[in-house]
Amino acid sequence: MFDNRVEFDAALISRYDGNGPRYTSYPTAMEFSPAVGAEQCRTWLRQSNQGHRPLSLYVHVPFCAHVCYFCACNKVVTADRGRAEAYLESLQREIHLRAALLDPERRVEQLHWGGGTPTFLSDAQLRQLMGMLGESFNLAPDDSGEFSVEIDPRELRENTLAVLRESGFNRISLGVQDFNPEVQRAVHRVQSDTQTLGALRQARELGFRSINVDLMYGLPLQTVESFSATLDTVIEARPERLSVFGYAHLPERFRPQRRIHSEDLPDARSRLEILALTVDRLTAAGYQYIGMDHFALVDDELAKAQRNGTLQRNFQGYSTHADADLIGMGVSAISATAAGFCQNQVSLDAYYHDLDAGRLPVARGVSLRQDDRLRAFVIQQLICHNRLDGARLEAEQGIRFEAYFATELEQLRVMQADGLVELEQQQVLVTPRGRLLIRNICALFDAYRRRSARACAAMI
Ligand code: SF4
Repeated sequence: MFDNRVEFDAALISRYDGNGPRYTSYPTAMEFSPAVGAEQCRTWLRQSNQGHRPLSLYVHVPFCAHVCYFCACNKVVTADRGRAEAYLESLQREIHLRAALLDPERRVEQLHWGGGTPTFLSDAQLRQLMGMLGESFNLAPDDSGEFSVEIDPRELRENTLAVLRESGFNRISLGVQDFNPEVQRAVHRVQSDTQTLGALRQARELGFRSINVDLMYGLPLQTVESFSATLDTVIEARPERLSVFGYAHLPERFRPQRRIHSEDLPDARSRLEILALTVDRLTAAGYQYIGMDHFALVDDELAKAQRNGTLQRNFQGYSTHADADLIGMGVSAISATAAGFCQNQVSLDAYYHDLDAGRLPVARGVSLRQDDRLRAFVIQQLICHNRLDGARLEAEQGIRFEAYFATELEQLRVMQADGLVELEQQQVLVTPRGRLLIRNICALFDAYRRRSARACAAMI
């Protein structure tokens, strides 16, 4: 029987705390290397046609009109809207180069535009971009595809949502983070309730099937009381999905975060209290905890997919359509096929340079070995379904589960003693206590992390 209870244990969470990977892929982007380039990526894209899998397209629009101080995304902050034109020209070239390598019959079941801020583009440019994709790819009809776009409510013109809906999008993800004005000022993202709730209402009227709201806890000046008020507002608005990420303060890595005063950040105890409150309030309000900071109303497709065992996860996060080859376009976008992952150039100059020279703008990537695919499957099972069936792995992958994962099972026994997992008859079951620590459980199966930990130990 499906069990989605979450048990909050503050002492355990702080003991296991750490900024581990979110496992939208395995291997993670940390393992990408420049040894994988454009030629390799072309070969993998052509080979992927043999699998006859559907396609998932991702398009990255890097521009933002303003910087949010918490942001860790790859973006270009500019007031010059004219920059979008040159970018679209390059995107067009990339779309042609990639589509030429793929079987035109393959259906695009998932499409996502992220950023940056996709609606930095004008309404006419948004239409133009969707037109470019429609000319080169076989886009699924509205009722069957999962076509989503990230929306900054501050960057919507009167008709933008209508243009996106007419263009084929049926889902949106609204960036909010916090409704409290003081917190908004401290992170330089001032966005009124009217802007956010107005966008949500309009999206509903236009027939978007699912609306996601992004929140963030651990931001400066946040308190349990202030975040409780944010949750009141969001619960009343009742978006189908919610992502509630924990802010990771890494100012040495992400320059905008240097403008956040560390003394304004909630302490570790307050962060945990905010997290506990979030889980309690949302589950009591009818949201299912999907895992890894995600919640969905129990009748949403994502929640149903988790209950019936078909939920998946890819670079876009949890999905009901992730069993597809991912074609990433735009600066820093990642593509994923069964043979390997490739990431585009991260700087705009390098991206333009490669496309001007007529080649795919690939900067780095990783080739997948059999062990990578096996571990990716294991992590997917744990992260989506909170369980791992060793007998199924033996039957499908031809391994001896207990021998292959002897080290991992030994480490899992420590977690079993802490009540995070149950181990019985080749089954690993994540308990309600272990759900909020799922990334730690998955990390045990990450061979790259283990290798680098060994290398560090050898250097000490
Ligand atoms: S959070 Fe979004 S809108 Fe803000 S700077 Fe980052 S990418 Fe741009």
